[in-house]
Amino acid sequence: MSLFENTLAQINEAAGIMQLDENIKEVISHPKKMLQVSVPVKMDDGKVKVFKGYRVQHSDVRGPCKGGIRYHWQVDIEEVKALATWMSMKCAVVNIPYGGGKGGVECNPKELSDAEMERLSRGYIDAISQIVGPELDIPAPDVYTNAQVMAWFADEFSKIKGKPSIGVVTGKPLEFGGSLGRNTATAQGGVYVLLKYLRDNDIDPKGLKVVVQGFGNAGMFGATILHKEGLKIIGVSDSKGGIYKEEGFDPNAVFDVKKSKGSVQDFEGVEKITNEELIEKDCDVLVLAALENQVHKDNAQNIKGKIILELANGPITPEGDEILVKNEIEVIPDILANAGGVTVSYFEWVQNLANFYWTEEEVQQKLKPIMEKALADVLTMKNKYRSSMRQAAFIVAIKRIEDTMKLRGIV
Ligand code: NAD
Repeated sequence: MSLFENTLAQINEAAGIMQLDENIKEVISHPKKMLQVSVPVKMDDGKVKVFKGYRVQHSDVRGPCKGGIRYHWQVDIEEVKALATWMSMKCAVVNIPYGGGKGGVECNPKELSDAEMERLSRGYIDAISQIVGPELDIPAPDVYTNAQVMAWFADEFSKIKGKPSIGVVTGKPLEFGGSLGRNTATAQGGVYVLLKYLRDNDIDPKGLKVVVQGFGNAGMFGATILHKEGLKIIGVSDSKGGIYKEEGFDPNAVFDVKKSKGSVQDFEGVEKITNEELIEKDCDVLVLAALENQVHKDNAQNIKGKIILELANGPITPEGDEILVKNEIEVIPDILANAGGVTVSYFEWVQNLANFYWTEEEVQQKLKPIMEKALADVLTMKNKYRSSMRQAAFIVAIKRIEDTMKLRGIV
């Protein structure tokens, strides 16, 4: 199954439970617009290489499209369609006025120099500039893109339009229209949801054992914030592999080592393990913060985490999900768990449009209630339909999209 087929399976499942109007299902099962571009880039050795890029706009029913840009060698149109669809659902779950979009460039950023990254980023935004913009579709960072890439996008787009247009992307550096709290937002939003879930279930978070797969923006901040909240980080990993220590360790120290030496595996005094071994470790909370399809039909049976927090998009396949549900493992799904990122992106965009900037405290004061309300809405649906949390999150999202589609007369 392609990633987009996984997404359609999730929509079908939710549609069946909520007895969704077939016309609505038909519309949300198709991305509204898809653009494929070829981006020629002059490499440092003088040769020109052409990179394939995509931007998919799944829905603009509830507002401009919103979603990150991924640089990865495995990017393809099916993946981008899936990610764009999840963005529509995610924005609806947290009830912010956006539809969903996503973009990607098929490239290996680890093999590109900074100058090549800059030329590729400027070329890509140029190629998609007709369909993006502050009122149309607003990209953001995703895997292997960061605030610097967003700064190049915003600068190039402003040049194309002949006026400052920094609201075209979010996740920018603070010195160039970024929002306080954006870099930690995905992780922080997930932590707000997890802590509320634990409180509601009378579980003391202090000392709970946590394993985190992926140590980038989502995973690294996830680990450090949970550590600060008193949970015990016993395992983390990045693309080179994982580390494990039953007594726990300080993820801030791991971050320092990764920054200076390149991988979490360079951290000393811990057991070195593979990514596959890491996610099967016994723990209270398993945080999936790397890539999609990490838990699937062949390893779901071995997962021992009692709660899974999906900071990554689509880290569990539908077959894997079914096994976890049978084993009564509570999965806090991606479209809820990682929605803090797009929520603070929305805050950044609002600040850009108003040209008036908020304090970190103001950002957190606005983020926390949105995340907690989204969890409450999902749990209400879960109880109503006796469904999984993922199915309930899809139902919340689809219901909101349906209501707007009907009001607008789209169906
Ligand atoms: P990132 O590029 O900052 O970090 C990715 C991390 O995953 C790196 O540590 C990398 O080494 C690791 N990794 C890559 N392949 C791996 C593998 N096979 N096994 C284990 N680790 C691996 O990316 P990010 O922004 O943290 O994104 C991670 C996930 O979170 C993605 O699914 C992304 O779509 C999702 N997400 C990110 C945001 C955001 O604001 N950054 C928001 C919502 C969702």
